[in-house]
Amino acid sequence: MLLSLVIPCYNEEESLPVFYREVTRVMRGMDCEYELLFVNDGSRDGTLAVLKELAERDGHVVYLSFSRNFGKEAAMYAGFCNARGDYAAVMDADLQDPPSLLPEMLAILQGGEYDSVATRRADRSGEPPVRSYFAKKFYRIINRISDADIVDGARDFRLMKREMVDVIVSMGENNRFSKGIFGWIGFQTYWMPYENVERVAGETKWNFWKLFHYAVDGIINFSQTPLCIASWFGIFMTCFAFLMMVFIVVRWLIFSDPVAGWTSTVCIIIFIGGIQLFCLGIMGQYIAKTYMEAKHRPHFIISETNGDGIKKVR
Ligand code: UDP
Ligand code: MG
Repeated sequence: MLLSLVIPCYNEEESLPVFYREVTRVMRGMDCEYELLFVNDGSRDGTLAVLKELAERDGHVVYLSFSRNFGKEAAMYAGFCNARGDYAAVMDADLQDPPSLLPEMLAILQGGEYDSVATRRADRSGEPPVRSYFAKKFYRIINRISDADIVDGARDFRLMKREMVDVIVSMGENNRFSKGIFGWIGFQTYWMPYENVERVAGETKWNFWKLFHYAVDGIINFSQTPLCIASWFGIFMTCFAFLMMVFIVVRWLIFSDPVAGWTSTVCIIIFIGGIQLFCLGIMGQYIAKTYMEAKHRPHFIISETNGDGIKKVR
């Protein structure tokens, strides 16, 4: 039985040695074959050098080095495409996803009842309150308007059976939102809560705006509801305008009003203009995504690797 660990790394030269030591300690205690697939996502620091050194010392280490930074989603995809294991897991290189959970996760999968074991943080302590607030709102909204079942506080850290990995690899969409993809494909998932841990070294690549864009992307990738909102706005405004016309005609018939109400007219024009632009923007988002998908560009380009039979472009 082979276990593949996929580890996306972007500027992780400081965390990698610590991570490698910890994960190797855990895997040695587990009595199963394993491979460590490190995906160097176009790092600007010495990550690749560290990986090469590890690969020289340890035959379990396979590195896939991207030709530039393609993002964590692409890195995970590259890992899954090249994972040979009967089981595969994704984990961060900063030890925020504790390798010590792996034996328990594997035991649950081998029990046969579940197809994947996913992790979620038990609470949101240690996170800025604003971020927690928006995160909670995001999960409420996306679960209401899409059929991707996304768990609040879910991390990407999960262990899956081969069947599930194959399905994920077969989902070749370019706009990838893994949390949604995992939920969308279904299968039996066991949720394992654990205390959040701070990263061991280096710093996070996320700030509030990046997270915000990620959230908007997630919604647009997994729901058509925003498009419906645009139509509803249109219907509502049309009805409203019709009532206004009736009102004005009646008023004119009764009072034969002279020209008045310049302000209200301008307000209404601006209001409607705003809503039109807003709706156009929503549509633009979907068209942009369609455009990107239609190009069928590869998800990643691997420029360097020490593995055999690695798919370099996909
Ligand atoms: N990562 C990556 N490509 C990127 C950004 C991040 O491969 O463009 C990796 C990073 O090296 C880490 C994981 O994704 O292993 C999670 O990143 P980070 O720790 O910055 O996110 P956080 O844990 O703060 O959500
Ligand atoms: Mg992290």
